[in-house]
Amino acid sequence: MTLAFEPFLDWSSYRDAGLGDAYADVPRYGGNFARAVAVCINSRQCETRGKGVMCPSYRVTGRTELSTGGRVRLLKAALNSDTPDTRLSDAVLAEAMDLCVGCKGCKRECENGVDMAMIKVEYLAQCHARQAPALRTRLLGELSRHLHQHPLARHLIRWRNRSTVLAWLGERVLGISRVRRVPEPLEDTCLQRLEMAPSAAPDAGSREVTLLIDTFTNDFAPETGLAAEQVLKRAGYQVHLARAPANERPLCCGRTHLANGLVEQARTEARRMLEVLQPHAAAGRRIVGLEPACLLAIRDDYAFLGLGEAAAEVASQALLFEEFLAREISGKRCNLPLRPVATNAQPLLVHGHCHQKAAGAMKSLRKVLRAIPELEFEFVESSCCGGAGSFGIEKEHALLGMQMAESALFPALRARPGARVLANGFSCKSQILDGLQRHSIHLADLLLESSDPESA
Ligand code: SF4
Ligand code: SF4
Repeated sequence: MTLAFEPFLDWSSYRDAGLGDAYADVPRYGGNFARAVAVCINSRQCETRGKGVMCPSYRVTGRTELSTGGRVRLLKAALNSDTPDTRLSDAVLAEAMDLCVGCKGCKRECENGVDMAMIKVEYLAQCHARQAPALRTRLLGELSRHLHQHPLARHLIRWRNRSTVLAWLGERVLGISRVRRVPEPLEDTCLQRLEMAPSAAPDAGSREVTLLIDTFTNDFAPETGLAAEQVLKRAGYQVHLARAPANERPLCCGRTHLANGLVEQARTEARRMLEVLQPHAAAGRRIVGLEPACLLAIRDDYAFLGLGEAAAEVASQALLFEEFLAREISGKRCNLPLRPVATNAQPLLVHGHCHQKAAGAMKSLRKVLRAIPELEFEFVESSCCGGAGSFGIEKEHALLGMQMAESALFPALRARPGARVLANGFSCKSQILDGLQRHSIHLADLLLESSDPESA
């Protein structure tokens, strides 16, 4: 078989996918990438209504080409054509891929587990190889590097949020919607604040855990990182921080790079991350992350980057904060006395990040919330909030993003105007704040409030 292109991601795990399946219909070009696409058997189950997550762009528009299967049909047609190179930039296919929010709903809900979020990464990387990525793609994809190498960027974002002229300019030059508030990075990062905080010597024999402070927690929501560290300490753990070597910028998982199709840059970030995390994993420590998209990129997406044993070793130790605590509670290894929290006499409303749902982490979240005395809570049955990384602030996507939020999440939150909202995803929080002017908290924030300071 002649390959029309060399895949940027490692699709070798799909080597046998679809073979022997009467419906497989593996496209002519694309090698193992084509096999990953061919996992779809065109059952059109994803074009039926009434499911909770899959697929937000189809649910909002009703257009079949914007369903997971619709995207597969367009991709197959391109990979089967005599000119797959040019067919990749076909306008209908480009629009269909552009409006995939990368929520991974299909990976969990499609009967064959089509992973369109990763297929989109490969698709974008192929497009970038043919045409250099736009400035916005490079800025948002390499957000972490820009924030730390160009200190002015932090000020620019704040000025932009307070100036209609700058917001207008940002829309014209970069394609950032002028009607959306852009999350503001803070001056003091979480890691800087943790460095300055006094640290008591751990109790002899206390269990060890490694806390990963991701880009969003570090630069935008440092309080959540501080809360997580405190909660873990109060629960009796010796907390190690995953830190970049001195004089290097902070670690980044590479998720924003992947979402923008910047695969080589994601690989560079992933290598830096693995170099730091691998010794923690080798020491048998659990690696605990707060932002679902970031921790799950390390656990699930690094397998596509061809990074060898270190990636597998780190992935086997990586857990979301709620997964770690749920396991520790089940194993009776967690000593975290909890007391009731303020709820405004209404159930706490819980919104799951799409990747958290796709990874099956909501049951862990439920288990941890049940440990808080007297807490009543409700999981909001909703699809993607429409924030989806940077999707919701991009000029051409902002309206569709808000329509996704309005399809279930926002009406549910409006129905309980005084209720507190829990959302572990940073982009979900930003979408809720911008759309409803309501703040939401992370599980770590809630547990800090609920845990007994005397036990620290
Ligand atoms: S993406 Fe999944 S649910 Fe949709 S048509 Fe393909 S196999 Fe069926
Ligand atoms: S990743 Fe989400 S938006 Fe993209 S096809 Fe799958 S369900 Fe639809």
